Amino acid sequence: MASSLNGKVALITGAASGIGRATAVKLSKLGCALALTDVVEAGLSETAELCYTEKVIVAQLDVSNAEQCDLVVKETVEYFKRLDHVFNCAGINPTAYPILELPEGYFDKLVAVNLKGTYNVTRSTLSHLKEHADCSFVNVSSILGQRPSKEMAAYCATKYAIIGFSKSMALELGPKGIRVNIVAPGFIDTPTNASVKAGPEAVERSAQSVSLGRLGQAEEVANAVAFLMGDEAKYINGSVVEINGGLAY
Ligand code: NAP
Repeated sequence: MASSLNGKVALITGAASGIGRATAVKLSKLGCALALTDVVEAGLSETAELCYTEKVIVAQLDVSNAEQCDLVVKETVEYFKRLDHVFNCAGINPTAYPILELPEGYFDKLVAVNLKGTYNVTRSTLSHLKEHADCSFVNVSSILGQRPSKEMAAYCATKYAIIGFSKSMALELGPKGIRVNIVAPGFIDTPTNASVKAGPEAVERSAQSVSLGRLGQAEEVANAVAFLMGDEAKYINGSVVEINGGLAY
């Protein structure tokens, strides 16, 4: 069966690594053309090479910079003549800090990238998504946007906020036929996951708290993102899809 995403155009932020990269590969397999963006352009060409399509453009984009968002989105739409799906994936994964030990600027940085960045990209792209034409947004929250964890206050604040922001967006855009959904990954094996950064023992501890007994793979999040963008999810709007292998806490 042909994919409903065949011939569509998707813009991905944070596409140089981890979940953003895996989603680029997945969407390309389904026939999407792609605008791949990231704060550092270096890893984007590697992502582009992994993709199953020639219809890829790459652009440096710091999502916390609203003017850059406008510019990159304008270039994307000029190039592809359309934009169907947006994956707001760029983000800074957490480092554990007691509240009184947060480094200067850390809280502001997380808010600027994880939360305001999603708003900036939404603001720049929204007017380009055609109404009642199966367009959608998928935004990335986290298990830490649903359940708290100590010493993660700043990150939790941004990821809880993403769910509120996205659910409100879904109510506003539903009447225009534009869907907005959220993925909430658990412990995913990417370079900046807190346990991966801490080493094998921390990974093992995280794995033990997962019912399936292992960390998730970026591709397993990508599969959910692609599902949410496609026709098979056309009555799913404002939903949070948990991809965490089953967590007991
Ligand atoms: P990743 O491998 O570090 O990928 C994130 C990408 O976003 C990186 O390439 C990073 O670039 C980029 N980025 C950082 N700041 C940016 C900015 N200002 N503008 C544009 N891009 C920026 O992380 P990941 O694990 O795939 O995470 C992707 C998303 O999933 C994040 O929002 C994260 O919070 C969320 N998430 C991850 C997990 C997990 O366990 N991995 C769990 C729940 C939620 P640099 O590397 O140059 O900083």
